[in-house]
Amino acid sequence: MVIRSALIYLSRQEGLKEFAARFSLFKRLTTRFIAGESTDEAVAAIRDLNARGCSASFDHLNEAVGSVAETEAEVVEYLDVLARIEQTGLDSNVSIKLTQFGLVIDPELAYRNARRIVTDAVGRGNFVRVDMEGSHATQATIDLFKRLRAEFGLNDVGIVVQSYLYRTMDDVRDLLKIPARIRLCKGAYLEPPEVAFPEKKAVDDNYVRVMQVLLSSGVYHGIATHDPKMIDATVDFAQREGIARDAFEFQMLYGIRRDLQEQLARDGYRLRVYVPYGKHWYPYFMRRLAERPANIWFVLKNLLK
Ligand SMILES: Cc1cc2nc3c(=O)[nH]c(=O)nc-3n(C[C@H](O)[C@H](O)[C@H](O)COP(=O)(O)OP(=O)(O)OC[C@H]3O[C@@H](n4cnc5c(N)ncnc54)[C@H](O)[C@@H]3O)c2cc1C
Repeated sequence: MVIRSALIYLSRQEGLKEFAARFSLFKRLTTRFIAGESTDEAVAAIRDLNARGCSASFDHLNEAVGSVAETEAEVVEYLDVLARIEQTGLDSNVSIKLTQFGLVIDPELAYRNARRIVTDAVGRGNFVRVDMEGSHATQATIDLFKRLRAEFGLNDVGIVVQSYLYRTMDDVRDLLKIPARIRLCKGAYLEPPEVAFPEKKAVDDNYVRVMQVLLSSGVYHGIATHDPKMIDATVDFAQREGIARDAFEFQMLYGIRRDLQEQLARDGYRLRVYVPYGKHWYPYFMRRLAERPANIWFVLKNLLK
């Protein structure tokens, strides 16, 4: 827990990225979790995933963007990616973060930018997933998503919920009334006990409860986890309730539990891999290290070699 907190704290210190990036070895280690710095590298990674029977989601890494010009560059990148998906016939949608589009500068700016992406995606028959960030942004993200969803269809734009937040079951019931396509994950940020379950068991129990509500809703949702216990609970519940394998999808992160990814795809489940890429890999990479102490030893061992 202490290590996780420390790494998540470090993930917020963008300045350290410059330091870390100076070590070319450190940068090479990131390739385990990040498809590359360029769009071409992400396209190549997704082509490979598609060949292995997995769909994907492009995630251009950047968050808490602080200038209007930078948000514009993010929009341009996503418009380019959506065009590339259509031209190449890749089986992929896109995931966006609202702070990447200016949520901390001005929520209206983030709304206008996100709306441009969803409008373009809809014109191409694609889908945009709005990622969920730290709890300071939860309500603003839900509010903005609801505005988008009021204008666009169920299969045009979706949202994410995190089982570590106390509020999530209420949010899910509220979002299902619209209805909305939801990705369920455990949550990756450092949250205080006032808003999030501090114990892993409570996060997992809530994950299973929310998963059951989602799968029973008749809407197509994403069950995002690498945890075999959460996957087994999902498979068991779907079998018990007679929910078809193609009525939902599992989702995992690039480079994590590839064995499990391939196993699920072989077993006939839908599997989508979230493919992060871009120059701003530092916070994402540090959150992945925080999730699993073994990853830190992997990095340290390689740095010391
Ligand atoms: C497709 C996808 C999208 C996501 N989107 C969001 C989002 O929008 N907002 C958000 O807050 N979080 C998001 N997350 C991250 C998520 O909240 C968790 O932090 C992350 O998935 C780890 O939780 P877990 O369910 O895998 O279970 P855990 O209990 O953390 O891990 C279970 C097991 O999975 C394996 N594992 C997990 N993480 C790693 C790792 N880093 N390296 C190696 N093995 C690992 C290990 O075997 C571990 O024992 C997303 C995750 C996925 C898969």
